[in-house]
Amino acid sequence: MFTPSRSVSVTDGTRSRLATVRALVASPLKRRSRAARAAVRTAARWQLHRWRGSLQLRVIVSTMLLGLIVVLGLGSYLYQRIADGLVNDRILTARAEATSQARAAQSRFDSAGRLDAVSLTQLAFDVVGQLSSPGADKSREVILTRARSNTGRANVPTVLSGDVGLPSVPARLREAIAADPSHQQVQIISISSTNGGTVPAAIVGSRVTLPAAGQYELYFVFPLEREQQTLRVVARTFALGGIALVLLVGAVAYVVTRLVVDPVRRAALVAERLSSGRLHERMRARGEDDIAKLGKSFNAMADSLQKQIRQLEDLSRVQQRFVSDVSHELRTPLTTIRMAGDLIHDSRHDFDPSVARSAELLHNEIDRFESLLSDLLEISRFDAGAAALDVEATDLRATIARTIESTAALAARGGSRLEVIPTDGPCVAEIDPRRVERILRNLVVNAVEYGEGRPVRVQLGLNENAVAVSVRDSGVGLRPGEAALVFNRFWRADPARARTTGGTGLGLAISREDAALHKGWLHAWGEPGVGSCFRLTLPRHTGIPIERSPLPLRPEEERSAARLAPDPPDPPYRPAAASGGARS
Ligand code: ADP
Repeated sequence: MFTPSRSVSVTDGTRSRLATVRALVASPLKRRSRAARAAVRTAARWQLHRWRGSLQLRVIVSTMLLGLIVVLGLGSYLYQRIADGLVNDRILTARAEATSQARAAQSRFDSAGRLDAVSLTQLAFDVVGQLSSPGADKSREVILTRARSNTGRANVPTVLSGDVGLPSVPARLREAIAADPSHQQVQIISISSTNGGTVPAAIVGSRVTLPAAGQYELYFVFPLEREQQTLRVVARTFALGGIALVLLVGAVAYVVTRLVVDPVRRAALVAERLSSGRLHERMRARGEDDIAKLGKSFNAMADSLQKQIRQLEDLSRVQQRFVSDVSHELRTPLTTIRMAGDLIHDSRHDFDPSVARSAELLHNEIDRFESLLSDLLEISRFDAGAAALDVEATDLRATIARTIESTAALAARGGSRLEVIPTDGPCVAEIDPRRVERILRNLVVNAVEYGEGRPVRVQLGLNENAVAVSVRDSGVGLRPGEAALVFNRFWRADPARARTTGGTGLGLAISREDAALHKGWLHAWGEPGVGSCFRLTLPRHTGIPIERSPLPLRPEEERSAARLAPDPPDPPYRPAAASGGARS
């Protein structure tokens, strides 16, 4: 029955369903090809890593490649020479054979009795049959054909001794014979072999004269099958020899590089151990060769390094001991001086004004001396490795609150407002609260000291494995390079600067030691006239390392973080104890 053709309209719904089906079919394929590409990339990266990381691999592969190039070049040159020699030899013998056979044929034609076409044809068949190689080896085939310029009366047809026909004779060869009939001509052609393929052959042509029939061309075809076989054997031998040679070169490179690379690897291992503090590690240095000399020089260097490090350690121990002893020794007289000073200070109103002023100065300097002594004792405890953490889970908001409380009076005196920007919710970390409070107090006191009366902002932040507190001021700031120096003992940007709180120059050094004891970081940033920021970052749990700090250090980082997170900042956190007191 005839069905009228219908036009099918594809609606949007159909189209989207088709797209879904297509996506469903394509997605596993896409996923598989993506996985394959990723696997190839990983394998390539791994190979590159191995290539870069192993000198031995590089030497072996390069030596083998060079060996391969030499073997290929030399092999193909030798093969060519052998092939040329074989073919030339064969051509020489073919020429000699063809000359004598052509002469024999000519004398048979010359002595022909009957000169009619049938007799001459019979004679031609006889002669060609005799000239071709006897038996089935077909080492020589013969073609007798009328020369193109022949105008003789009797016509003898082309006579072939075997399968090689007249089309196998190149036209150029025939032309060459026509041009120079008195000389033999040779060419290499390709003929079909008995096993169906082709085989090269030397074809030697010359002229013979048939009585009454005129000029004829006589061709001898010498297949080069045996030479080809010989060359095949030579090529196979060369290939096997070449492969064996390249493998041998690779093996030699492996052995030689092992002899050199092994001691170098051992030296690298020993050097690594030495740098990790195992100063007794030495290389094995036996024999008289270059490697043994390297080992001996390496060991001599390690001996000398060890000696110098020991000397420095001893010296440093003596210095630390000295500082510690002096500090301890000074404590007793200082206590006496303190008591006497306090007594004088308390009775200063009974003295005349100049003596009262001296009593006040004495009192301040004793305070300063006391704090310097306690800082020195603290530093000696760090140096002696006697400082230990007293860890407890602490909410850093409380620590900040205590810090603000203890520094509020100083801030009020300096005219600085203390602002605290905490996190949303508690911020608990496993810390030593006494040490962290000491760090924060030092940072806030410094910010007030160098903040030139401008507000000081204390910010609290946390991420998966770290908590951070940053103290930012807008005071004198730090010159380039000073951010790294501020943690040095007794370093001051301006040694002549009068300290209102009597800083010792050890505060930040102690703070950094405290942070390091927590496996935390203490970083500084500053710009002259813009201000400074000190950021303390601590792990939330002991033993879990920090990956990144939750708070920015530089203002530009802060700005870009703000751009990334457009949410409004948390309302300023006012700890109960510090409320009001944090403001000047
Ligand atoms: P101290 O404050 O007792 O001198 P510190 O170790 O606390 O010792 O500080 C070392 C030096 O670092 C200070 O003398 C000062 O030059 C510099 N410094 C510390 N904090 C700040 C800051 N907030 N702004 C500018 N410079 C600072």
